[in-house]
Amino acid sequence: MTVTAHKTVRSLNASRNSETISGIVSPSIRRATIKGESSAAISLRWRDGASKLTPMNCAPIGFRLTATDGAARRGQIITPHGSAQTPLFMPVATQATVKGLTFDEVRSLGAETVLSNAYHLYLRPGVSRVKSAGGLHRFMGWDGPILTDSGGYQAFSMGSLRRISDEGIAFQSHIDGSRHFFTPESAILNQHGIGADIIMCFDQCVFSAGEPAAVRGAMERTHRWAQVCYDIHTASPNSMDQALFGIVQGGTMPELRAESTQFITAIPFDGYAIGGLAVGETKAEMHAVTEQVCVGLPADKPRYLMGVGSPEDLVNSVALGVDMFDCVLPTRVARNGALFTPAGRVNIANSRYAEQDAPLDEACDCHACRNYSAAYLRHLFKAREMLGPRLASIHNLRFILRLMAEIREAISAGRFAEYRANFLATYQPTDENRRQSQKHRWVEERGA
Ligand SMILES: [Zn+2]
Repeated sequence: MTVTAHKTVRSLNASRNSETISGIVSPSIRRATIKGESSAAISLRWRDGASKLTPMNCAPIGFRLTATDGAARRGQIITPHGSAQTPLFMPVATQATVKGLTFDEVRSLGAETVLSNAYHLYLRPGVSRVKSAGGLHRFMGWDGPILTDSGGYQAFSMGSLRRISDEGIAFQSHIDGSRHFFTPESAILNQHGIGADIIMCFDQCVFSAGEPAAVRGAMERTHRWAQVCYDIHTASPNSMDQALFGIVQGGTMPELRAESTQFITAIPFDGYAIGGLAVGETKAEMHAVTEQVCVGLPADKPRYLMGVGSPEDLVNSVALGVDMFDCVLPTRVARNGALFTPAGRVNIANSRYAEQDAPLDEACDCHACRNYSAAYLRHLFKAREMLGPRLASIHNLRFILRLMAEIREAISAGRFAEYRANFLATYQPTDENRRQSQKHRWVEERGA
């Protein structure tokens, strides 16, 4: 599963005349150590190859579309820490760890990219500590691509006594009550210090059910901050190694989403995210916004739907043209004993598993299903053994990452519509009312 820099260079060389690649070669990739070759030789080859590249803009990431099927897209993102196939799902490593798992396990499950969180790392252990440890990749022992979110959402939703103004967000730490202030400038500088391959603009998220004037106000502030973030980032040498994504806001109002899509795409970010979804709107509203925004996004840049990751949402959003996802859902619900199956989510504590000596899902290739029965998993949860949440997290992440691999294959084969129809005909989504109440409870308790 590991994609080495060697492989990245080969694939880039092989397709260096392709016009489907945007922003191909970064100096950091050129500096990357490649197995079996001296850095001087690599550098020379890159210089030679780079002269034939069109366009050559030293963008920190490359994005290549390899297949489309309807609006669904398959492609590849190339970063200074290797490449990742899209559509992709990023397991969430909020505190520089995917809870309960080693990064070897995360990689073996099929993850190529992970997401971490600038708010949490800023508060603990601190940006300077991560930076002095050699950056987040070295600090947490993951050498693949990393994306960090800016911390704006967490500062707003987790910090107590937060106050938001045009200058930024003042908040109190959820850990010790200390006072802090995030601005667009500081959010970018924090992410420069942390060192992820892809960083996010500082934005203001509002709950979709908010007053129209408040949604507009947050959107306009997000636009002003986006320009500040872009200017700060592009003036820094970090822009040679780190990609910056812009974020479209605007709640569930089509006219605001249209305005935001137009404004944000007028700034030449390395990729574009759809923010402000999965925060209380209905699924129908979420899909309508996703579809509208995707139509307005440039085809040659990656598209990232933030915080969305239930199985049915992944399948449906890929169909609308989304390339990247992250969500805490697979690991969060796993820790509560909720496991994905092809038929839908089940609770392993249910008495119907008490005597099931077969695996939970016979067809699943994860470590938990290959080695343990459903009855044993249930026992671990009933006995509150820590192996239970670990095995459940392994199963759920493997379910999601296998789903993404199957989606990619279906797109390449031109049968994604059929794959989606079959999946949705079998998979029973969690009841929307229950989903909403769970979401609200988590937001109130944890803020994320
Ligand atoms: Zn499994």
